[in-house]
Amino acid sequence: MYPNENLELNARLNLLYRNAYFGIVITFIAATGLAFGFDNTNEDPTKVIWWVSISLLMLIRLLDSLTWSRHKDKGTLDNIRHLYRFRSGALLTAFLWSFYCLYFYSNSNLYELSVSWIIVSAMAGGSATVLSADRFVVLSYTQILLLPYSLLVAIAGNSEHQMIGFLGIAFSIVMFFTALKAATYTEDSIRLRYKHKNLLNNMKHEVETRTQEIVKLNQLDSLTNLLNRSAFIKQAEACINEKSKQPFSIFFIDMNGFKPVNDNFGHNIGDEILRQLSRRLQTTFAQTAIISRWGGDEFILLAKTDKADEIDTIAKSICHLFATPFHIHDYSIDMDVSIGVSTYPTHSLTLSELISYADVSMYSNKHDDKGDYVVFNNTLAKKVQSEFYLSTAITSAISNQQLSLVFQPIIDAENDRYHAVEALLRWNLDGEQIPPDIFIPIAERNGSIRSIGQWVLDESIKQQKTLEREGFDVKVCINVSVIQFDDPKFVNCIAKLLAKYDVKASNICIEITESVFSTDKPKIIAALKQLQALGIFISIDDFGTGYSSLSLIQDFGVHVVKIDRSFINRLDSNGGAIIKAVMVMGGDLNYSVVAEGIESIDQEIILKELGVQYLQGYLFSRPVPFNELLVKLRKKNFSLDELS
Ligand code: C2E
Ligand code: CA
Ligand code: CA
Repeated sequence: MYPNENLELNARLNLLYRNAYFGIVITFIAATGLAFGFDNTNEDPTKVIWWVSISLLMLIRLLDSLTWSRHKDKGTLDNIRHLYRFRSGALLTAFLWSFYCLYFYSNSNLYELSVSWIIVSAMAGGSATVLSADRFVVLSYTQILLLPYSLLVAIAGNSEHQMIGFLGIAFSIVMFFTALKAATYTEDSIRLRYKHKNLLNNMKHEVETRTQEIVKLNQLDSLTNLLNRSAFIKQAEACINEKSKQPFSIFFIDMNGFKPVNDNFGHNIGDEILRQLSRRLQTTFAQTAIISRWGGDEFILLAKTDKADEIDTIAKSICHLFATPFHIHDYSIDMDVSIGVSTYPTHSLTLSELISYADVSMYSNKHDDKGDYVVFNNTLAKKVQSEFYLSTAITSAISNQQLSLVFQPIIDAENDRYHAVEALLRWNLDGEQIPPDIFIPIAERNGSIRSIGQWVLDESIKQQKTLEREGFDVKVCINVSVIQFDDPKFVNCIAKLLAKYDVKASNICIEITESVFSTDKPKIIAALKQLQALGIFISIDDFGTGYSSLSLIQDFGVHVVKIDRSFINRLDSNGGAIIKAVMVMGGDLNYSVVAEGIESIDQEIILKELGVQYLQGYLFSRPVPFNELLVKLRKKNFSLDELS
């Protein structure tokens, strides 16, 4: 049996039984007409018996048709049983007709013969359509009705009858082919209908599978197969929208030192660590939490509890996942983790706040707290609040004229004269000085650093012009944030400012921290090279605090390296050795060295002995407003001039 056979059989039976009502009524009327329409009925009771038989048969077939239409579950066996029942009913009807024609022929006159012949032919003609859903029944029915009667009339009849007989034989041959054609047509159209239905079903199935695949692709992170950010948000939002308002906690997980591993071992190893961690997370938490890759080396886990002891257990299990090193090829890499936790509904009712609170807690765990994890708390809440306040206020700091620049001299170790000055930004918010270490990162996060950075560049270059006009050959060093490099017109803006104030490019030095290279390295290097082409100096700030990459310094020939204050504070321990190494490399790579944050004469002496070319720190001068700087410059540089 092929796949659609039962369905097709069912459709055929439906057609046969539906048409059967019409056939039964017509048969009954025709039989009644034949049995009682001629005046010789009374002479032969067989006609009445025949009529009773065919009427009874019609009644049975009517009941059979009714059972079919009522019957719901039409399995294969049911269908086959009904097919045989239908066939029997139809063939019995045909035999009764044939019996009528054969049995009563001898008593018929020409009129009776012609009438019964017309009726039988009409019945056969009609059946070609009504019974066409079953090839066997339609062929048998028409032939049983027509052929025996036509043969009898052709053989046994007188010459008038014979004519009708031959016509009958010819008609039954025609009917045979007509019925055959009708049956083939009906069968074909039913088969075609199911073929199309099948095709449609297949297509529907295919579309469903494809849709499922696309949904899966859209939901899963391609590297780790964990839920991606948007899929996680959807599932977590669903937890919030649940009627039961079940408490849950968000675990923000961030690997410590993932970036240097990625940089030093290569992205393939980095990816493999992420994959292995994902598998460890899956194995431990698949049943108890929603796990997602938030992005980079950050993961978020949602667990349906806000109980402190359960949070503690989960956080410790996460830490435990880092107890064994990650084995990749021949490497065995130890990784560490920072975890921040926030809970619903205690800390917030919105997902975005919960995630950012868990993130803030994670940062606190990474930078301040030495424990396994940090749960969002009042101190952090105050920090978030104040950051929110500052973040709003900083966007109007320029228009409210709250920003100013102070300048800190950088001394030439050879002659103690001011070699350069570093422009440092100050923000006075309603009488309170907000430290740049606090507001610069906030301005970087909310994007206002772009306009602020532009303001700093404009102001610094303008003041450089004043210095030039006053006759001081002193460079101005300007701190630039990585985000400013996102602007493709950044270099062009600086060039325009140089033209606007008619300032020599070689009197400007741009300070960047090493962390700028953690983003789009080629783009930054290209911009730095363009700045150098203009004649601007480039200086690497806070050297030694980030992921120092000497090859970078080599790559684009940096002019100045500023050694971070933390090394100056450790001159007695290994700070001195590191500075020595930086000095030696400076000889090969052709950069000068600035030591930052010098506060004591001892430090000055040691650094001068080490051969550091430039010195900066409170010992020489705190950062001062421009007017004060001019006063200092007049004293310092001029007096030395006079000495020489
Ligand atoms: P930085 O670029 O490393 O600037 C040097 C910082 O060290 C300044 O802090 C300066 O006041 C301080 N400093 C200098 N000498 C000494 C010393 O002897 N002892 C101590 N304890 N500190 C010293 P400040 O002005 O608070 O700036 C902090 C940071 O804010 C800067 O570090 C820089 O990264 C950022 N920053 C300041 N102005 C700007 C700016 O205009 N744009 C950008 N993007 N960042 C800026
Ligand atoms: Ca600096
Ligand atoms: Ca610095």
